[in-house]
This record gives sequence, C-alpha cells and structure tokens, in this order.
Amino acid sequence: MSAPTAQVSQWLADFGAAVSRGNFGAATALFGDESYWRDLVSFTWNLKTAEGPPQIQAMLEATMPRAKPSNFAIQGEGSEANGVTEGWFTFETATGRGRGHLRLIGGKAWTLLTTLQELKGFEEKKRENRPKGVEHGVFKDRKSWLEARQDEERTLGFAKQPYVVVIGGGQAGIILGARLKKLGVPAIIVEKNARPGDSWRNRYKSLCLHDPVWYDHLPYMPFPDDWPVFSPKDKIGDWLESYTKLMELNYWPGTECKSARWDEAAQEWNVTAQHRGESVTLKPKHLVFATGMSAVPNLPSYPGMSAFKGTQVHSSNYRSGDEWRGKRAVVVGSNNSAHDICADLWEHGADVTMVQRSTTHVARSDSLMDLALGGLYSESAVKSGIDTATADLIFASLPYKALPPLQVPVYQQMKERDAEFYSRLEKAGFQLDFGDDGSGLFMKYLRRGSGYYIDVGASELVANGSVKLKNGAIERVTASGLAMQDGSELQADLIVWATGYGSMNGWVSQLIDQTTADKVGKCWGLGSGTSKDPGPWEGELRNMWKPTQVKNLWMQGGNLHQNRHYSLCLALQLKARLENIATPVYALAPVHHKS
Ligand SMILES: Cc1cc2nc3c(=O)[nH]c(=O)nc-3n(C[C@H](O)[C@H](O)[C@H](O)COP(=O)(O)OP(=O)(O)OC[C@H]3O[C@@H](n4cnc5c(N)ncnc54)[C@H](O)[C@@H]3O)c2cc1C
Repeated sequence: MSAPTAQVSQWLADFGAAVSRGNFGAATALFGDESYWRDLVSFTWNLKTAEGPPQIQAMLEATMPRAKPSNFAIQGEGSEANGVTEGWFTFETATGRGRGHLRLIGGKAWTLLTTLQELKGFEEKKRENRPKGVEHGVFKDRKSWLEARQDEERTLGFAKQPYVVVIGGGQAGIILGARLKKLGVPAIIVEKNARPGDSWRNRYKSLCLHDPVWYDHLPYMPFPDDWPVFSPKDKIGDWLESYTKLMELNYWPGTECKSARWDEAAQEWNVTAQHRGESVTLKPKHLVFATGMSAVPNLPSYPGMSAFKGTQVHSSNYRSGDEWRGKRAVVVGSNNSAHDICADLWEHGADVTMVQRSTTHVARSDSLMDLALGGLYSESAVKSGIDTATADLIFASLPYKALPPLQVPVYQQMKERDAEFYSRLEKAGFQLDFGDDGSGLFMKYLRRGSGYYIDVGASELVANGSVKLKNGAIERVTASGLAMQDGSELQADLIVWATGYGSMNGWVSQLIDQTTADKVGKCWGLGSGTSKDPGPWEGELRNMWKPTQVKNLWMQGGNLHQNRHYSLCLALQLKARLENIATPVYALAPVHHKS
C-alpha cells in the first residue's frame, strides 16, 4: 500500500471510529486549524460547509447521531502532491450511500467533502438492475411501453397529481426532471415556450455556448465524441428537446404558470397554469422554480426613456443584427451579452458603440480553457481518466471560502500570458478588472453571476476601434440617443440594454407574492462582501438546490455543469421526502437580503 493510500485509509478509520463512538471532539481533532467540511445532503439534508474546527464539531454533533455513518472506505489509491495528500472514499449512512473526497495537510484534514449519491432501497434502476423492458410470457390486455407512457401522460396532472411541479423547462427544469424521473418521483415540468430548448433558440442568432463541451454534458446521456467544443444555441436547443423525449419527461410545453399558492390545510401547492387553452390547477407537494437565473431582465430607468424615437430592447429581446445594417446601434453594458451583441451588429454592418459604465473582467476563451478549466474539463482530462462525475466532485470538493486564493494565481498567469491583449484593450480605453480580489471569472460568476466577458472575438473589435467605446455614466435618454454625464451625446437608431438580470426570487414575487419572495430572499451569491455580493458570508450559494425559508419551495438553476451536478442533490432531497424518510435540515440558511 502506498504511503498516501495508507494515510488516507488511516484518517478515515480514525474518523469513522470517533464518530461511531460519538466522540466528536476526537473526530474534530482530526481536522487542521484551517479546515472545511462540505456536505452535500448526506448528513445535513442541506448544502452546507462548516468552516474551522468549532463549526465542524457543531455539525458533527448535530448530524452524526441521526445519520449513523459507517463503512468509510478508501476508493482507489491516495495521492500526494505539493504537501497535500488526497483520496476518494465511500461511506454509508442509515438512509443512503455516499462518496467523498479528503485532502490532508500534515496528517490533518484540510478539506472533507461528503455527498449523498443514492438512497438505500430507492436506487436508480440501472446496470444490473435496469428494467427488463418486457415481461416474457403471455398476458391478456398487455400494455405496450407506448400505451403505458401515453397513460402516464394522460393521467398525470389530471386523475393523478404530481409530487413535484417544476416551473420552467429550460436546461435546469429538464435536467432536474430527468433526475426525478430516474428516481421515480412523479413530476410535471411546465414551460411557456412552444418546444423544449426554445429558451436557447430564442436568444440572439449568433450565440454559441461560452463553456466547452466537456463542461456541458447532461446527466445520463453525454454528448457524442464529435460534438463541437462550443455548442451553437440552436443545436443545444435541439439536444435538449430530444433529451426531454428520450428521458420520458412529463413536459408540458406551451404551458404558462400563472400563479401558485400554498394551501396550508392540504399541505400542498395550488399551481395554476394555462395548458392547451385551458386553466389547469396542479396540486403538487413541492414546487421548484427553474425559471432561469438569466431571465428576469434588469432594465434601468433613465429619464427620457419613453421619449426615445428609435428602437430599444433589453438584451434578452435582441435577436439579430439583420435589420440594422448601416444604422447606429448603442449597446449599454460591457459583459458577455453586450460583447456578443456588439460583434453581431458589427458583422451585420451596423455602426456600433459600446457604453461601458463600470469595469469588466475579460478572459480569453483559449486561456480560460487552458488555465482554469482544462485540468478537469478537457480532452486531456478525459484521457487522464477524469470522467465528468469525478471532475464535478473535485470541483465541489473545494469549499467556496478556499477558492479565491486558489484562483488568484490562475488569473495572474492569465494576465501575464495575455499581457499584450490586455494592454491593447486598455489603450482603447476599456476598463478592466480581475475581480475585487483578483480571483477572476469563476468567483465573479459565483458571487454575482455577472461582470465578465469570455472573449471569443469581440474584444478585438473593441481594441481596434471597430466597435467604438464610450466610458462613463448615462445622464438620460434623449429622443435620438443617449446624453452622457460628461456632456457628450451618442446618436442611436437602436439602444440595446445589456444590463443583466435580477435575482431569481423575482419570479416568486411574480407568481406567488412579494411576501413569499422576500421570505425566500436573494438567490445566488456567497455573501463575499465584494461588488454586488453583500455580506454576511454564507458559505454556499444562496437558496440554490437546497431548502429555502419557504416550506416545499426550491430553486434550480445555473450553468450546465451546475445543473448536472446539483440536480442530483435536489432530486435526492425530493425523493427522500416522497418516501417519508426523515430529512432534518441542519443550519437552514437565514435570509439577509431580499433581492
Ligand atoms: C446570452 C447568454 C449566454 C449564456 N451562455 C452560457 C454558456 O455558454 N454556458 C452555460 O452553461 N450557460 C450560459 N448561460 C447561462 C445559463 O446557462 C443560461 O441562461 C440557461 O439558459 C439557463 O437555463 P435555465 O433553465 O436556468 O433558464 P432558462 O433557459 O432561462 O429557462 C427558464 C425557462 O422558464 C420558462 N418560464 C419562465 N416563467 C415561466 C412561467 N411562468 N411558466 C412557464 N414557464 C416559464 C421560460 O420560458 C424558460 O424556458 C448564458 C446565458 C445567456 C443569457
């Protein structure tokens, strides 16, 4: 046995023995002074990171007696690099089986990740346990697969109520729907668009995913080996549509949820939706909002907006530069959508100006892939044996608090590698940042979900002046364009407000009421105290994939990677409730911000 394998095995044996004796002081003593225990559902029925020995001991004391963990066992070999010994392990609780990851420094735990993978007795029916598909023999009135499927579609939501209703059938709703289906949780996904995948199709014509294919796989059905690195939006739309069908989801397209209300007496939701021209009320026990993180448009209110004689749209309603050839377009904003739209307008022959109101982080796509993502999500990662599930768990094993110091050197390297590129952008007047603490793109995404551009070409247009740049604050909108606070004016036929999106609880306010939205509170962000992510520190993303302050109300969203990984957490929480497994939630997060 190698030394790292022996070290990890010994730590797990000591930890397992201490917690089974109920000696939580001894278990805590196995952690270093700077240490983290991140649990995804297995012990806490929550997504929770305990930071430092006192918090770890409190979490052990509160969760272990009930969870009754056992069988901590190393999986594969341990390894050692740069003074950190690490290894994978499996474990069991009274109700489930889990997988974990451990990092040791000087023999003491630095990071411990524990994740619930399946519930005992309610495992997904796969591999040797896959359904047979047919019952051999002869049976009167036998139902074919198609008939059974049609029966399900006909009855669910009418004669039979679903246990879960998911509002929104974009990637978040579809992926969660697939998880729930595999776990046998009756669910309906309501989607106001005509077809699954339309939320991608409806976006501007030139859009391709900014994340590479290795990061984007859907659960159960990875993309084929020749799938393009950056999926064009209509192609990903078609994939989502096919996936919805192949996963046999109860997906109601063309169905708009109009309102939802909790019925305290019946302990269920009343969800009213317009379905096939009729008002239908669904009565699920649980309601999931998968209505999109990038979906409640933030439209600023400047004086004079209604007086503008040209066309003005929020970026979410911009479709294509087709009709703007030879016209003057002003794009307000300097993040991803703003850059993509400027490039699209320029490609269509418009005269384009970008208005930059605050600094922006720009990371070149190639550099991002090489320096930030490539180790886990790339062809070379696949070749070195890091499959998607392993990559997701490695990612998850780094607690949010520990991430920024690990990210800073990556972006320092990026700064050096692309020094000439950044210098040309700055010369053109573009105001750059690398995040408040230099931790770059991924931290900005987690903290505020905005503030960056992954450069796939538009930066060159800004650097060489093909897209004009105007820095500064807007005073008001005039009949013919924008009046800036510095006294200058920008003439425009088209104004695109690429001004981002609001918190997902905005959807709760629209469909339930403001009181409930306030009770849920702000979604996303870590409480880092950096721009647009006010403290106090939360340790996990606010409200995502975990219990909220509103009973039986959940939030699902994020990029494809997050949806893939965290949908299992949410699906297992829902399945446990369906099967009446006790789910005592440890440290339900308080709400500090309403939006
Ligand atoms: C321009 C742009 C580029 C992006 N690029 C990437 C990328 O490269 N990689 C990546 O991973 N992510 C990217 N994202 C972020 C994110 O992954 C996408 O926004 C993605 O579409 C989010 O999926 P979702 O299912 O959470 O939300 P959406 O796709 O917005 O889906 C929400 C769905 O809810 C439906 N809905 C809303 N209200 C109701 C209602 N009342 N009743 C019924 N249905 C309702 C909507 O019709 C919509 O289909 C990008 C986002 C934008 C805006």
